[in-house]
Amino acid sequence: MSGHKHKKQFGQNFLNNPNVIHNIVAAIAPQPDQHLVEIGPGEAALTEPLLDRVAKLDIIEIDRDLIPALTRRFGHKPTFHLHNTDALKFDYRQLLANPSDKLRLVGNLPYNISSPLIFHLIEQADIVSDMHFMLQKEVVERLTATPGNKAFGRLSVMVQYACQAEYLFTVGPENFTPAPKVDSAIVRLIPYAQPPFQANHFGDFAALVKQAFSQKRKTLRNTLKNWLTTEQIVQCDIDPGLRAEALDVADFVRLANLYSQIKQEQG
Ligand code: SAM
Repeated sequence: MSGHKHKKQFGQNFLNNPNVIHNIVAAIAPQPDQHLVEIGPGEAALTEPLLDRVAKLDIIEIDRDLIPALTRRFGHKPTFHLHNTDALKFDYRQLLANPSDKLRLVGNLPYNISSPLIFHLIEQADIVSDMHFMLQKEVVERLTATPGNKAFGRLSVMVQYACQAEYLFTVGPENFTPAPKVDSAIVRLIPYAQPPFQANHFGDFAALVKQAFSQKRKTLRNTLKNWLTTEQIVQCDIDPGLRAEALDVADFVRLANLYSQIKQEQG
C-alpha cells in the first residue's frame, strides 16, 4: 500500500519491524474460536497476521483513504469485517453475535485519542474479555502505576477500578514510520468480572476521583472540602493530610461510597 500519505491528525505511525509485530501478536495469542476487534488497522501490520488466526476480526478505521486498499487485500477473507468509522463513538455492543459473546480488543492506538478512547472502552468493559494496546510509554506507565508512584493519577485509578493492568514491553520510535518522538509500550488490560472494590454509585466515584486529583499538590482535606468533612475522611480510615496520589482504588471507593450514602440520606 505504498503512496499513502501519513496523516498526523489520525496519529498514523505505522509499525515497520516484523519482529515487533510478531511479539505483539504473540502477546495477544489469538485463538481460532475468538472474536477480535482491531482499532486503527492503518496499512494492516497487525491485521494481516491476525486475520488467519481468529474466528472473526472486526476492524475500525476512521481514515477513508485507507479503506479501498484494505478491502482489496482482505475483503475476500471470511474473518474480515471493516467499519469505516470513529472508534471513539463506536458502540462495540453491536458486534456481539449473542449476549454471552466477549470481544478481545487490540490496536496500535492513535496516541492523540488514547485516554478518551480508553475511558470509552472501560464503560463497555462488561463485553470485553481483554485489551492489548500500544500506547505512548508514558500513558502505559500511568495505566499500570501503583499509589505513591509519580505516574499514578486519575487514569490509573479509573482503569484499575475496572481492569487488571499489566505493562508488557517497550517499543522504540525506530519501529514506526514515521518515527514518533517518544517511546511506546504495550499494555494488557483484563476487565474484572466483578470489580474487587465496588462503588455503590459509579458516577459519584468517577466525580470524586476527578475532584481529588484536580489539584495534585493539595491534600484531601482541601480538595474534598465540599464533598466530605475531615472527620468523614478519617471515618474511611484515610489521613486527610494525604494527597490523592497516596490512595489506592479501595480507598477511593470507601470515600465515594460514604459520599454517596450521605448524599442519599440528605435527599
Ligand atoms: N495498526 C497500524 C500499525 O500498527 O501500523 C496503524 C496504527 S496507527 C498508530 C493508528 C491508526 O488508527 C491509523 O490507521 C489511524 O488512521 C487510525 N485512527 C485514528 N483515529 C481513529 C479513530 N478515531 N477511530 C478509528 N481509527 C482511528
